[in-house]
Amino acid sequence: MKYVDEFRDKKIAKKLAAEIAAEAQPDRQYNLMEFCGGHTHAIFRYGVQDLMPDNVHFVHGPGCPVCVLPIPRIDNAIELAEQGAIVCTYGDMMRVPASKRNSLIKAKADGSDIRMVYSTQDALKIAHENPDKEVVFFAIGFETTTPPTAVAIKQAAAEGLENFTVFCNHVLTPAAIQHILQSPEVRELGQVRIDGFYGPSHVSSIIGSAPYDYFAEEFQKPVVIAGFEPLDVMRSTIMLIRQINEARFEVENEYTRVVTPEGNEKAQELVSEVFELRRMFEWRGLGDVPYSALKIKEEFSGFDAEKRFPLSESKGKDVKGCECPAILRGVKKPTDCKLFGTVCTPDNPMGSCMVSSEGSCAAYWSYGRFRLDRAKEAAE
Ligand code: SF4
Repeated sequence: MKYVDEFRDKKIAKKLAAEIAAEAQPDRQYNLMEFCGGHTHAIFRYGVQDLMPDNVHFVHGPGCPVCVLPIPRIDNAIELAEQGAIVCTYGDMMRVPASKRNSLIKAKADGSDIRMVYSTQDALKIAHENPDKEVVFFAIGFETTTPPTAVAIKQAAAEGLENFTVFCNHVLTPAAIQHILQSPEVRELGQVRIDGFYGPSHVSSIIGSAPYDYFAEEFQKPVVIAGFEPLDVMRSTIMLIRQINEARFEVENEYTRVVTPEGNEKAQELVSEVFELRRMFEWRGLGDVPYSALKIKEEFSGFDAEKRFPLSESKGKDVKGCECPAILRGVKKPTDCKLFGTVCTPDNPMGSCMVSSEGSCAAYWSYGRFRLDRAKEAAE
């Protein structure tokens, strides 16, 4: 397939692996955090990890929007459905555990009208088809999925679609990366060592590469915006290793076929027309992160589910023993969780990281990585 096969070519991968081995200095460790779940899956699906020298380590970050949504927000979405609204959301969200072993899919089985949609346009269509019902779009995602939500709100406003609202949970990546770099686990305790970042790819196609300049300089960490194909990850690894070796802390862009420094300015304008920054938002694993999420502007408050419906303050917690919060901070690996592969599997997920197609636990399980890790541990 054009534009895909050339980024999965075995021969080129071998060449790049040799280049990485030559660039990586044997007396150094390279701990590289991939913020996005898309990178995590590319690494495991194509066995990129096995092509790395022993001193190049991947640290998995919080880059899956389904994984980072805290339980109270899912409880609120279920509450909206229990109040009688039709709640629409993307497929991954349906099976993420909420409080008391509930989830959107279980609430649906219990009679709530919760529907999986592929786009915001599907949600608008459902609102048109059900004029006597309230229809709430449970919006989640990083900067990539925010523009379509903005379009839906503007469209609903233009059409005077009064039974449509959005429960907004859109979050922002630069604030989360900064939060990780400022965390005690990174700065003081040394529990997470991060020498460089693979910058988000799809997100950066919207916001550009420039927003990462600040923390590359401030925290002295190189960033390489990397595409989601295995050769993208390998080329980005070379770029990161070179920066680390040369003590450079810059934002470089490997994904030039899509990402520009300024990003998609039209999409950015659209988003800022409809949304504004929240002062604080809770992330699963990271806790409260200042200015890391968006809310609907007052001008469009009629389409804001949080303004239109009463929502209780849920104190829902993760399942006992689930290590998702520590995994999302890069402190632990999925195989450090006692429930991994025993109680918790993709068929019976106990935490968000096992549900989402971008979650680290799902990646370890789906591509059998855990078997290799366990065999290695047993041999040591
Ligand atoms: S394996 Fe399951 S329970 Fe353990 S951290 Fe992952 S999602 Fe949570």
